Amino acid sequence: MMSKMKAILLSIGDELILGQTVDTNAAWLSQRCAALGVKVIEHATIGDDLNLIAATLRRVGGNCDVILASGGLGPTDDDLTRHALAEVLGVELEFNKSAMSRIQAFYDLLKRPMPEANHIQAMIPVGCEVMENTCGTAPGISARIGRAQAFFMPGVPREMFVMFTKCIEQRLQNAGGNVLVTRVLHTCGAGESNIAEMLGDMMVRGRNPLVNSTAQQGLVSLRINAQAPTELAAREMIAPVETALRNRLGKLVFGADEETLSSVVVERLMEMKASLATAESCTGGWIARELTDIAGVSAVYLGGWVVYNNQAKVRDLNVDATVLNQEGAVSEPVARQLAENACKRAGADYAIGVTGIAGPTGGTTQKPVGTVYIAIAGGGSTQVERFIFPGDRDGVRRRTVNYALNLLRLRLIE
Ligand code: AMP
Ligand code: MG
Repeated sequence: MMSKMKAILLSIGDELILGQTVDTNAAWLSQRCAALGVKVIEHATIGDDLNLIAATLRRVGGNCDVILASGGLGPTDDDLTRHALAEVLGVELEFNKSAMSRIQAFYDLLKRPMPEANHIQAMIPVGCEVMENTCGTAPGISARIGRAQAFFMPGVPREMFVMFTKCIEQRLQNAGGNVLVTRVLHTCGAGESNIAEMLGDMMVRGRNPLVNSTAQQGLVSLRINAQAPTELAAREMIAPVETALRNRLGKLVFGADEETLSSVVVERLMEMKASLATAESCTGGWIARELTDIAGVSAVYLGGWVVYNNQAKVRDLNVDATVLNQEGAVSEPVARQLAENACKRAGADYAIGVTGIAGPTGGTTQKPVGTVYIAIAGGGSTQVERFIFPGDRDGVRRRTVNYALNLLRLRLIE
């Protein structure tokens, strides 16, 4: 087997050095490299400084087989990557006619005149290869530096993704190393340490496949990472581990990979041909937002109410004013009435009702910040659960959204 290809990632831009933009390009490229069997040995980040960019290129060109660079190909004076590359190669920049006509065509499509500044993007160091940018103006550039093949891509994440996928990925195939394939299982309803306990020896380090967990806002995701010479072989190693995890965790697992709580809830409603309505107080429409992230959801989601203050709860959803005064807006009977009345008013099969104290103010000893009632009405009964969620305002609200969708999911698979 040939030795494993080594890569260094370069992220170029003052905004990255200043911490104003998070370097998502390097994270994305590293994951793609792992999937291709390319070993990333360094992430380097440099500002918009010609000498520093040139010095870095000289240094890394001797240390790896592939350089994947992004940023600094824009039309403004601080975009210096092409000048630094020309200096390192000891060549001039030369006008590239086909690059120019593609930039012109990009503006023609938008029916806008091309600014004079964009001419610089058609200047390419002599002898370099041009990579087409199908969703922006800056063409990519590829060149040999030392023992490395270097690829320079635009900084705009989407332009970088598309250029990498179209022009570079295929050239990194057969990189010599094992490919990494990851399957993610998503759970809701148990904490990370509970899950670790349930899995016991299944999360032991140093295994292949290796099982890792990450937690955020009430969701715990388990990543099954397998390394093998081919993707197929890695997938075959993952399958029995996935089955074993699903057997241990049962209904806690709600989906895999790209699936979300809202996508699986919507899918289940579609299978059942059942409809849904929402009545939200503390989440302010966030549950509706999650549901409407799913294209085609109008087939099952009828709509909802954001009844934020007491007046709106009484006026729009007929919540009993006496109960509201006696029990408070954050209470079991109010959550129940929100769900049941939303169900009736919308003519839906199911409804979610949520009311809670997201903080930072408004908590009491009996009902501290984070107290949330979630009600699921439909199918002939209403279930109401009380939670005390940790976290700040944002965290409490996110958890409320997740737990509400999860309670509905569990009801729908009963
Ligand atoms: P540039 O190609 O240098 O003109 O970059 C264009 C824009 O892309 C910058 O203004 C940033 O907002 C964004 N960008 C550049 N590099 C990165 C990176 N490594 N990660 C995320 N965004 C980036
Ligand atoms: Mg820049």
